[in-house]
Amino acid sequence: MDPISRVEISLCRVPLRQAVSDAKVLTGRQKPLSHVDLLTAEIETAQGEKGFGFSYSLRAGGSALLAHARDIAGELIGEDPDDIGRLWEKMAWLGASVARTGVTVQAIAAFDVALWDLKAKRAGMSIGKLLGAYRNDVPCYNTSGGYLSSSTDQVLRNVDASLERGLGGIKLKVGQPDLKKDIERVRAVRDHVGDGVPLMVDANQQWDFTTALRAGRQLDAFDLVWLEEPLNAYDYEGHARLSERLDTPIGTGEMLSSVAECAELVNRRSVTFLQADAPRIGGITPFLKISALADLARLKLAPHFVMEIHVHLACAYPNEAWVEHIEWLEPAFNERLQIKDGRMLLPDRPGLGFSLSEQAQSWREGIQRIQT
Ligand SMILES: [Mg+2]
Repeated sequence: MDPISRVEISLCRVPLRQAVSDAKVLTGRQKPLSHVDLLTAEIETAQGEKGFGFSYSLRAGGSALLAHARDIAGELIGEDPDDIGRLWEKMAWLGASVARTGVTVQAIAAFDVALWDLKAKRAGMSIGKLLGAYRNDVPCYNTSGGYLSSSTDQVLRNVDASLERGLGGIKLKVGQPDLKKDIERVRAVRDHVGDGVPLMVDANQQWDFTTALRAGRQLDAFDLVWLEEPLNAYDYEGHARLSERLDTPIGTGEMLSSVAECAELVNRRSVTFLQADAPRIGGITPFLKISALADLARLKLAPHFVMEIHVHLACAYPNEAWVEHIEWLEPAFNERLQIKDGRMLLPDRPGLGFSLSEQAQSWREGIQRIQT
């Protein structure tokens, strides 16, 4: 046994080149998004082997993630880093009185990813391969070009740039107060790219059931891959009813923050595309439980954000899964994901395949090292 001898955590505040807005901003519920907070975790063993992982929050919550990580980090010292399942449970029980969902599991996620990174590095293979990859590349689509903060002309230019880069699909934000504007925008993009390009739309939970049904019926004309978050994230039944009434497949799940919540979407047949997010539900260990459930229910998977982690999990899902391309975190890392012919390639580097860049070091705050 080569025990964990050092743990280092920090909060890394990654600025976005340009602030972005989705429907939640247009309905007055949120301000434009200007940065992503990464909770970073580095784990080192007595023999000097290292694992790196991260979790994240958008807008508020980063300092809470760091605070909870500080409370639990010391408990990893002296432990066998190969016992990832047991260590996940140990960390979860430490914070059980403040819930096994939300901030507590999102803090655990950074350690969990670091443990998987370490294990895969020791095995000399990527995490995707360690988990039993079904394929070495997955279809990927671009989200960052389709925000509501961009004009339709700008979106069309972004679409061209995405397709030229080799991305396989395009997602557009919808959910504007005037539904007609959404439909015009989707029509403009569909006319621009033609029939062959996969398109998705995302309403970011801003519709009620009636509006979603009305919007969905109009959107059925555009041959969309999926309609994302048409309703409140916790409306499991509403999504199931919409799924039955629309031709366009429904996707949701990104806002949920536990296995139990994601399981509701599976068990109630709410979605065709399950959009679980590994950092939000506690890391790779809980994500594997959701993957197994989704596979048994014959669902499709389209994990939310953090392509750096999800490319591994999508390649290890039995059925082909879409990965969401958002380049926001690229400046934080030394490495880049490769994209070819509409697909993202599983990195062949051992482990997660990402390390913090020089620039990211200057964005770190609250660094804490715990060692034997
Ligand atoms: Mg979304």
